[in-house]
Amino acid sequence: MNLGIIGAGAAGLTAGWDAVRAGHQVTLLEAAGEPGGLAASLEVGGAPLERYYHHIFRSDRAMIGLIQELGLGDALRFHKPTTGIYRGGRLIDFTTPFDMVRFPGFSPLDSLRFAVSSAALKAIRGGERFNDRTALAWLRRWAGRRATASVWEPLLRGKFGERAEQVSMAWLWARIHCRTFELGYVDGGFERVYTALRDGIEERGGKVEFNKAVESIQQDGEDAPAVVRCADGSRYAFDRLIVTTPQPVFARAAGLPAGDTVWQNQYLGATCFVLELDRSAIPYYWLNINEPDFPFLAVVEHTKMIDPAVYGGRHLLYVGNYVEREDWRFTTEPAELLERFLPYLQRINPEFDRSWIKDWHFSRAGYAQPVVTPGYRSLIPPHETPMSKVTLVTMAQIYPQDRGQSYSVALARKVTASLGLS
Ligand SMILES: Cc1cc2nc3c(=O)[nH]c(=O)nc-3n(C[C@H](O)[C@H](O)[C@H](O)COP(=O)(O)OP(=O)(O)OC[C@H]3O[C@@H](n4cnc5c(N)ncnc54)[C@H](O)[C@@H]3O)c2cc1C
Repeated sequence: MNLGIIGAGAAGLTAGWDAVRAGHQVTLLEAAGEPGGLAASLEVGGAPLERYYHHIFRSDRAMIGLIQELGLGDALRFHKPTTGIYRGGRLIDFTTPFDMVRFPGFSPLDSLRFAVSSAALKAIRGGERFNDRTALAWLRRWAGRRATASVWEPLLRGKFGERAEQVSMAWLWARIHCRTFELGYVDGGFERVYTALRDGIEERGGKVEFNKAVESIQQDGEDAPAVVRCADGSRYAFDRLIVTTPQPVFARAAGLPAGDTVWQNQYLGATCFVLELDRSAIPYYWLNINEPDFPFLAVVEHTKMIDPAVYGGRHLLYVGNYVEREDWRFTTEPAELLERFLPYLQRINPEFDRSWIKDWHFSRAGYAQPVVTPGYRSLIPPHETPMSKVTLVTMAQIYPQDRGQSYSVALARKVTASLGLS
């Protein structure tokens, strides 16, 4: 089979790896200049670092299995980094269940309701019962109004903005139920996984082509090949095509009707700064910002989990956001955006000074986070597309779990197997 794959992220590379080992002729076309998609890396102090903060959980079995299969099992280490919340002008420890129940302002009843509702979400197995509920309505009812207003609602508002009230409880259940306190990271970064997949595909005769932005996908007739055209004018014909881009990107390339809700955009974009600092800025790995007037959602000090020596002694601080693509935080020129964010970093740490930033990087992705609402199941695009030779494998098909590398790996493996390609 002459198989084409669009996208060299976790899904595309996994599909390519499985298919090439089954003896198929594989060509991957990737718009960016590097592998990894949303989990791609840039270079900091001579070492690769993900453009957006990344770790995996003990429960991410598909990703752990793939890492082991690629011979990188010894490089995967699990850490127990700390978490905090910034609220009311102060930093609040939020790492252990004990920290959580003694959250400032909680009455004994608030603490009890917060603890019991969180424990229930961990214990309840099937998330289907939450399909039709919104997260905030469920939380107000069971965790209580105060715990919801001080912990959950700012988190959901920070992540989903105006859409927070619409977010499905099934999505929140999955985030709490499926995640672990221990976080896994590959020494040398997840780039090692994506590079190993690319090398593995190429060593077996496959091709991984970068800077190939696909502009159109066509199939003229049931038995005709799928024809792909790229922005640089190149053209490819495939017996079978797997598309791993977000569905609106696929819909545009395939000329599908813009009014069809299944192909429509339900994504937020993401922006992320990596600040290379000469010292540590926050006392945690992960700091959620629960202040409504802040222009960003989370600050993650990667070097609270991984030794700064790996990055030439630099302390690495991510400042991350999920926003609509029309939002000023998505459209503003990065240098100006950074200046606008600095006063807020100084509110978190009054000693923070511009001179601490030795270098910085900025990344922006238009389709980063599907917005999972109670009606979401009817909006999940199918793998089958209007073109018989073209199959869609995209993160919007992951439900109720939040998107993540492991789910993309698992989905790609499932679909590749179902097509008889692995
Ligand atoms: C801020 C942030 C933090 C995250 N944190 C974590 C985490 O801690 N742990 C975790 O496991 N996951 C995390 N994720 C999610 C994880 O990165 C994704 O779920 C996963 O990488 C998705 O892989 P994918 O292959 O399905 O999609 P993508 O990574 O989106 O891959 C799709 C690929 O298609 C390419 N493409 C798009 N359009 C075209 C075109 N026209 N032509 C050719 N190629 C095209 C893209 O460049 C991309 O490489 C995070 C994501 C974000 C944004």
